[in-house]
Amino acid sequence: MAVLCVALTLVGYLYSTSGGIDWMVATNRFLAVFAIAISAAFLILAKRATEARSESETRYAQILDTAVSGVISIDENGIVLSFNQAAEDIFGHQAPDVIGRNVKMLMPESFSRNHDGFVANYLITGEARIIGIGREVEGLRKDGTVFPMDLGISELTVGGRRMFTGTVTDISERKGWEADLVAAKEEAEAANAAKSDFLSSMSHELRTPLNAIMGFTQLLQMDTDHPLTVNQVESTKHILQSGDHLLKLIDEVLELAQIEAGRIAVHVETLDPAPIIDSCATIGRNLAQLSGLTFYDKTRDWILPEIDIDPTRFRQVLLNLLSNAVKYNREGGTVSLSVGEGKNGAFRVIVADSGIGIARENQDHIFTPFSRLGLENSDITGTGIGLTITKELVEAMGGGIGFESALDLGSTFWVEFPVTTGKLEVMTRKVRASTDSAAEADHTILCVEDDPGSLKLLESLIGRIPNTTVIAAHTGEIGVDMAEFYRPDLVLMDINLPGMNGLEALSRLKTSPATKDIPVIALTARASHHDRKKGLDEGFAAYLTKPIDVEEVTNAIKDHLGAAPAAAAES
Ligand code: ADP
Repeated sequence: MAVLCVALTLVGYLYSTSGGIDWMVATNRFLAVFAIAISAAFLILAKRATEARSESETRYAQILDTAVSGVISIDENGIVLSFNQAAEDIFGHQAPDVIGRNVKMLMPESFSRNHDGFVANYLITGEARIIGIGREVEGLRKDGTVFPMDLGISELTVGGRRMFTGTVTDISERKGWEADLVAAKEEAEAANAAKSDFLSSMSHELRTPLNAIMGFTQLLQMDTDHPLTVNQVESTKHILQSGDHLLKLIDEVLELAQIEAGRIAVHVETLDPAPIIDSCATIGRNLAQLSGLTFYDKTRDWILPEIDIDPTRFRQVLLNLLSNAVKYNREGGTVSLSVGEGKNGAFRVIVADSGIGIARENQDHIFTPFSRLGLENSDITGTGIGLTITKELVEAMGGGIGFESALDLGSTFWVEFPVTTGKLEVMTRKVRASTDSAAEADHTILCVEDDPGSLKLLESLIGRIPNTTVIAAHTGEIGVDMAEFYRPDLVLMDINLPGMNGLEALSRLKTSPATKDIPVIALTARASHHDRKKGLDEGFAAYLTKPIDVEEVTNAIKDHLGAAPAAAAES
């Protein structure tokens, strides 16, 4: 366009000055004017390019100056080429005082003395210590203070010259927090060790006078020359009971302190757990019988796999669960010991009781030391530490612990350990002789019921039928497990259960070879014709509705027990 304008102007000019066209003169004038136009165009373009470059440089400088990290560029001799605003803030130097000088002025002596060597080595071998890697180094501020910083360096080549750009972040604050954390951890560890030492010596100090108290009390009881009065005998019993409690408390507190201080020794070996489980079952049975409870050992039908455990600690764990199952039981209740498969094929030992159960709101605190979950002032003695120790021991052996419980219905605690060799396998029935009281009863009836009132009613109803034993589960899952282990003669199943409902539980029982032949009677509030038909179609042996008709339920039980072979005959 510009050229066209120039050409038109030129033609006009030629006509106006010559009154006609002299072509030689015209050509010369044309070339002269054309040259002037071209030069002007070049000048304009060059100016625009310069403006654009300086605009981009200004933008680049602004980016650098507003960057949060310090950015410093140097040439291959270590001479500073640029130093942004953040670098000024970090080091306390102004850019003009640094640019043109060696970057070593920003390093403490310990770093600066090797810097030239590092750069030279990199330039020759290409072997980087920081470039492209980044690391934590120390910087030197203008006021002489040394501070920790993260430094990342990248390399670039401009106009054939190698340059290095460093990005610097002052990490003094972060380092301060880290140091505070380490100090706090060390302090806590020291306090814990001190607590443990204190408890250890306290334990010794307390045991000595306790020894005298309990020893002399026993002597008083045994003194036939000066026999105690009835009241005195009663008082000495209280002294001994309280002494025992105190002794247990001392032992458990000390043990817990040792575990917490990491001083507990767990010597794990690969073992068949059967002998330990058998001996715990014997102790569990004795404890249960002393409290008038029925004890079921359902571990003997199984070949157990080998697991990695410390035998003493494993025994301690099982005994603690068994003694709780006995302690927190109720009159005429049951305790059972069984085995099964846990998570990811782990070997599980299960201790179930039909005791007082644990209220839902207390269940989160069960492993908290000194929590007795509302039983602080009850007749049942305890310290609230046993389960905390149990959990620590199980975890120290690489195992896991868990439980399910419902108030007034009972609790099921389990521990599990990864299988080392072999697998859990059912033996041909009753290979190992069972001394169970379950085997002594003619018929065992499993009631799967989550409502405590309904369960009590069933128990008293079944109690009137001769030669029957009741076992109870408060969830469908536990019901299925118990049926597997106890192989009852009959199951009474509620349908509306928390978690797995009665229909699902029935289908699980019917698909397992161990339980498929056990008759299952539905006892449910679902009373519609449709529900009844569905229930019978799914495989319930009878479908009885709530509120129950005692005679109808009794007859249904008797009918089905009549059809089932008695457990004793089976074994
Ligand atoms: P302790 O039995 O000495 O009180 P534990 O740590 O063994 O201490 O148990 C803590 C609390 O958990 C008990 O006080 C009790 O309230 C509850 N508990 C433990 N096991 C059972 C169980 N099998 N049934 C009901 N409650 C239990």
